[in-house]
Amino acid sequence: MKKPDIIALYADENGEIFDAPGILAMGREGKDTRLLTPDDLIPLPESADLIFLPDRQALGMTPDGEVLPLTGNAVSAILPAGYTRTMLPAFSMDEGVSRLPLYGYTAVCVYKDQLYAAAVYTDENHKWDPEHYNTKNLKQLIKRVKKDLPDNPLIAHLANCSLEWHCCTAENLFYRRWECGIPTSPVCNANCFGCISLQPAECCPSPQSRIKFRPTPEQIAEVGIYHLDNAPEGIISFGQGCEGEPSLAADNIAAGIRLIREKTTKGQININTNAGYTEGIRRIVDAGLDTMRVSIISAIPESYDAYYRSNYRLEDVKASIDYALKKGIYVSLNMLYFPGFNDRHDELDAWKDFFKELPVQMIQVRNLNIDPDAFLAVMPEAQTGYVGTRRFLRELKKEFPQMEIGSFSHYIE
Ligand code: SF4
Ligand code: SF4
Repeated sequence: MKKPDIIALYADENGEIFDAPGILAMGREGKDTRLLTPDDLIPLPESADLIFLPDRQALGMTPDGEVLPLTGNAVSAILPAGYTRTMLPAFSMDEGVSRLPLYGYTAVCVYKDQLYAAAVYTDENHKWDPEHYNTKNLKQLIKRVKKDLPDNPLIAHLANCSLEWHCCTAENLFYRRWECGIPTSPVCNANCFGCISLQPAECCPSPQSRIKFRPTPEQIAEVGIYHLDNAPEGIISFGQGCEGEPSLAADNIAAGIRLIREKTTKGQININTNAGYTEGIRRIVDAGLDTMRVSIISAIPESYDAYYRSNYRLEDVKASIDYALKKGIYVSLNMLYFPGFNDRHDELDAWKDFFKELPVQMIQVRNLNIDPDAFLAVMPEAQTGYVGTRRFLRELKKEFPQMEIGSFSHYIE
């Protein structure tokens, strides 16, 4: 029996999306385009969005094997957290068109009369379901916390993050549950090509602005104690989507952690960090940190430097992770993932060496939100082929069975 076709999509100038009967859908890994196959696809997740790519013509293939630009823009799925994209949309474009905004563009098509995306499901965490956020009573809950902690400028900041930017980790303070971000650092020691402080955070639709002041240890501790004492599965996290690098506020954070742990042993203290400032990480670890999540794109120094453009080196990141692991900290990597880049043979080999040397407990695979062509233009040229996202994940799982592969931080009992 003939397999059902996998049909290309395109959008007209008004953004209306159509399928192109008889034209087979293509996807892209790195710079290479190819036909999508059933093995690439999962049904489009319910909460995914579809958008079109301005100035980029959709590509498809005729049944005779001819690659055609369609008379319409390429269409992309934007996946909810918990799904890792395996292919980008295929498109052609003229030189000099403007850069795409920072989203995780994912190949999408029609298959068996339904929308499908090129992705794998990596993790589940109901705590980030939008239904738990922005509820009607949020303003009331903010009032309650403002009354409880009247003189703390972090509360006004987090209230604004909640109401203005709908930041989930800020809102959790007011809902008195789960993970609460405590922003501490207005500055960063890196200059990432796709800096997340300039793009939407995990569940926020709009770009946000960095914190503009440096909270004192007392202010940090007041919020920390309040949250950890009240929240079920309470976590406080330094370093969320839109602040700078928290370890640059190491003295304030370390002193804050000590004050917190004098008052409560409850909950978990976490840092999300680039881990490049090892001395700062040491101080924070020694003060009583529980978990550390390190943002990283590559285990090859040249690739790392091309993306982070930082004033530290990958060796410093490794020294921080080594120190944290030796002190019994639960370490996860926030691996920024781009199909056709991280799964290059040499990148995969470097990851294997990395995990042999530094057996972190978990990797969280994150779709890198970026214009694909702008990204590839700043990264080192491929020296090898690539294995594909599914095989990349499979090989890591096989070789490091003790290492969890997911997409979210979970509460560590
Ligand atoms: S480490 Fe974070 S805050 Fe700093 S430049 Fe990179 S993404 Fe932005
Ligand atoms: S991530 Fe940004 S919006 Fe959220 S709490 Fe931190 S500073 Fe506020």
